[in-house]
Amino acid sequence: MLNIDLHCHSNVSDGMLPPAEVVARAAANSVHVLALTDHDDTSGLAEAAIAARDAGLTLIPGVEISVTWHGQTVHIVGLRINPAHPDLANGLQGIRHGRQERAQRMSDDLARSGIDGAYAGAYGYAANKQMVGRVHFARWLVAQGHVPDVRAAFQRYLTQGKPGYVEHEWTSLDNAVGWIRASGGMAVIAHPGRYAFKAREQQLLLDAFRALGGEGIEVITGSHHPSEYGKWADLARAFGLKASRGADFHAPGEGIDIGRLPALPHYCQPVWQDWPEVAAHAAVA
Ligand code: AMP
Ligand code: MN
Ligand code: MN
Ligand code: MN
Repeated sequence: MLNIDLHCHSNVSDGMLPPAEVVARAAANSVHVLALTDHDDTSGLAEAAIAARDAGLTLIPGVEISVTWHGQTVHIVGLRINPAHPDLANGLQGIRHGRQERAQRMSDDLARSGIDGAYAGAYGYAANKQMVGRVHFARWLVAQGHVPDVRAAFQRYLTQGKPGYVEHEWTSLDNAVGWIRASGGMAVIAHPGRYAFKAREQQLLLDAFRALGGEGIEVITGSHHPSEYGKWADLARAFGLKASRGADFHAPGEGIDIGRLPALPHYCQPVWQDWPEVAAHAAVA
């Protein structure tokens, strides 16, 4: 059985480990095929590819794109992308610009609640100054003693309705799927169980995604409770989408570790079904 994990983060976005250490950790956890999927940034892929060659595992170039659909944030994972494709590279750069502007508004909002210096503070926790996000604010809020841990930082400051949360318009679903496909990649809806859509809207999302050329949906993810796996496997099948598996690893000790997930249900069509990289692995495994 190949251990395939197609969703994780390095410190190029909001993970804790540099790309090479993420790859080394995956290898230590017996992962054969790994996709690095940093938020809105692909600059960790070159380092990860070198580390993967050294560790003898197969690296799939990936990304996790922030999208706004029907007023909510939805994450679209791109797999087997070409990070150099101009549509994708320029699109992601636009999202990162938006992140800087959002960070300023978050900081202004926190200042109105008596917390000063959050903008510079959050940037201090971002290894990649191009990619700042709520997790960097959370780590700074913890270090400043405003909250005991990252979880509490999200609960008290960084989620809807709290000081420090600002509305933000990410890119469109159409753009995200379009850029991924233009670059030769496959688009996958990340952690579908995390979105607060009603059943009707959830169906609309799956239909719209499919109509745009989206091909997969995460079934086994660190964000789904095991009791939800069957539901998403059934929906994948009903909507003609392939199934993906990924821990969404961010840091040691946080959530599920890389590769430490159950296998896809046997009746799922895996996203990697026709991938030559995986067939090559299977031949030698
Ligand atoms: P952003 O894209 O900057 O809005 O940040 C989203 C990221 O924050 C997610 O990818 C997670 O890594 C993290 N996150 C979101 N919600 C929570 C939460 N409730 N607790 C801890 N981390 C969270
Ligand atoms: Mn994240
Ligand atoms: Mn996500
Ligand atoms: Mn993720």
